[in-house]
Amino acid sequence: MTHKLDKQFFYKPFWSRKQKSMEVLMFEDYYFLYHLLEELKRENRQEEAGRLEELLKEADKKTPQMTCPHCKRERIVEFAVSHNGSCLGSDATFELSDNWTCCSSKECRKKMLGKIVSGRAEIFEPKFSEILNIAITLEDQAKVGNLYKKIFGLSESITDTEAYKFFKGDDLVGI
Ligand SMILES: [Zn+2]
Repeated sequence: MTHKLDKQFFYKPFWSRKQKSMEVLMFEDYYFLYHLLEELKRENRQEEAGRLEELLKEADKKTPQMTCPHCKRERIVEFAVSHNGSCLGSDATFELSDNWTCCSSKECRKKMLGKIVSGRAEIFEPKFSEILNIAITLEDQAKVGNLYKKIFGLSESITDTEAYKFFKGDDLVGI
């Protein structure tokens, strides 16, 4: 089943600033979508604002698929960022790693933190809304987005249709 309206709204990049679908932008420029939502609300474009808001809300409910690299059993629930600035999301440069992820076990969290040898470690849940607290520039957002693709079991060169399916649970056909 596909949703005609969703397809029009999400797939066609009617915002001339970004020639990409909303779903792909979730991994590349969450910051843009967040501010776009504010803009749509301000301009009273309720239908579009409502749909973007739903995408942002539903995205935070996605379940990680990556297996904990420490116990190799459970699914991961958090990841760590190592940074050297005063505050992430502003002046900090940061590092991420596939190994700086862990399940809910305290042992695994300890092992994860033990692998971070430099910088200050901060722990986050793999939620899209957290991207705002970590990264601002496109390059930095893409770093987090690429880790999220691994966490959610998606390919690094995710296409519009793959991203649509991931967020909406439906196939995107007939474009
Ligand atoms: Zn574990």
